[in-house]
Amino acid sequence: MGVVSVSMPDSLVERIDEFTEEHGYTGRSEFLREAARDLLGEFEDRKLEDRELMGIVTVVFDYEGTTVEERMMQLRHEHEDIVASNFHSHVGDHNCMELFILEGNLEQISTFVGKIRATTDTKTVDYSVTPIGDGEGIV
Ligand SMILES: [Zn+2]
Repeated sequence: MGVVSVSMPDSLVERIDEFTEEHGYTGRSEFLREAARDLLGEFEDRKLEDRELMGIVTVVFDYEGTTVEERMMQLRHEHEDIVASNFHSHVGDHNCMELFILEGNLEQISTFVGKIRATTDTKTVDYSVTPIGDGEGIV
């Protein structure tokens, strides 16, 4: 096993130590190994290619003075083939939250997320992608 020495702010080290203790990790090494695997897995598109995927996208935007809501509606219609469900809610002060449940392949979902991200005046855009089907269940 390779040994890696990593520099990071003391405050981050403290948070890692607190987290590892609270969540029963054996130590910093185990925590960092898992964090590294998670991050690599997230961007390892190969395992998502050629698979049926479920995507969840949330968009938060100010409900006044923007055209985001209109744009969300346009995208929903443009991508009707992959939007399995769509939900609009109000969170906090003045915020609209748009939730999309998508079903499609990586290219379709990436295209949709790309258009959402390109929308101006959004406050946050978050998404996750999960393989479904192929007998492996939801991972
Ligand atoms: Zn609204």
